[in-house]
Amino acid sequence: MPSEFCRDAKPPSNSCSVPKCKQSLSVLSHTCQYCNMKYCITHRHPEAHSQKCVEKVRSSAHAGFKQESMRFISQERRDPGSTNAKNFNAEKNKEELKKRFKEKLDKIRREERGGKGF
Ligand SMILES: [Zn+2]
Ligand SMILES: [Zn+2]
Repeated sequence: MPSEFCRDAKPPSNSCSVPKCKQSLSVLSHTCQYCNMKYCITHRHPEAHSQKCVEKVRSSAHAGFKQESMRFISQERRDPGSTNAKNFNAEKNKEELKKRFKEKLDKIRREERGGKGF
């Protein structure tokens, strides 16, 4: 990876890094985050200046996805069940059912008491 950067590195210039393009970058320029070179507005997109950069965009998007899933997995390892929505809901439902059952029981008892007291 570093050797690739050295090979691609060019002294800073004030024109678009696309060889055929002689557009001056004195007013508007854009530095590509994938190759660190300056381009005019026309060539600022990876698609417009380098197939390599297009591939880097794709692989970085893929890496982002991988990172996200790795984060999920490591969190699950650190705190089992914390990311498991199914378990979380089941636990919540259990509490909810318990509460409802207690309420129902209380109501029955109150009715029973009322009946006996009559
Ligand atoms: Zn680029
Ligand atoms: Zn250009």
